[in-house]
Amino acid sequence: MPPRKRRAAANLEFGVAAGYNSIDLARFALRPGAGRRLDVDVDPGELELGGQSYAVAEGVVPARLDLSRTPAGYALRVRATVHVSGPCMRCLADADVPVELDAREVDQPPSEDEELRSPYVDGDELDLSSWVHDALALALPLQLLCRPECKGLCAVCGASLNDVDPKAHRHESAPDPRWAKLRELKQD
Ligand SMILES: [Zn+2]
Ligand SMILES: [Zn+2]
Repeated sequence: MPPRKRRAAANLEFGVAAGYNSIDLARFALRPGAGRRLDVDVDPGELELGGQSYAVAEGVVPARLDLSRTPAGYALRVRATVHVSGPCMRCLADADVPVELDAREVDQPPSEDEELRSPYVDGDELDLSSWVHDALALALPLQLLCRPECKGLCAVCGASLNDVDPKAHRHESAPDPRWAKLRELKQD
C-alpha cells in the first residue's frame, strides 16, 4: 500500500508529527476565554481531484492551529501554506501548486444546532488529519496545472506544447491518407 509507506517515511523524517494527527484538547486545560497557538505538522493523506491523486510536499502540512476555549466548547482555526503535487491536468507533467488554507471550526457540545458542532471534534479529541484533509480538498483550485498558462499536449502527436516552439511544431494539414480512407469507409 503506497500511502502507508509514504506515511511511515514522513513519520521517520518528522519524528513528532505522527502524534499531532489527532490532538487531545483537554490536555491544555484551558479556561473559557483562554487560547493556545500550536505549530504542528499534519498528515492529511492523499487528495483526489479529477480522478487523479495528489499529495502534499513531504507528506505533511506545516500548520498553525489556534484553539480557544469557549464557555461550552472550542473555537478552532487552522492555517497553512501547502504545496500540492501531482500530474498537471493539461500536460501530465509534475505540478506543484501552492494552496492557502484557512479554516475554522466551532464545537459547542450542548448545542443540537449543526452549525455549532464540528464533525472533527469528538469530546476533547480533535481529528486534525481529517479536518486538514477536507479543508485542503475544498481549497484546491478546480484545475491543478504545472503553470497557469500551461499549453497542454498536441492533439496530434501528444508532445507537450510547453516544450516546443508553437511556430515550429506543425503537422501537415493534410490528414494521414489512412485516416482519409477510414473516413470514406465510414461514410459508405
Ligand atoms: Zn501542464
Ligand atoms: Zn504534435
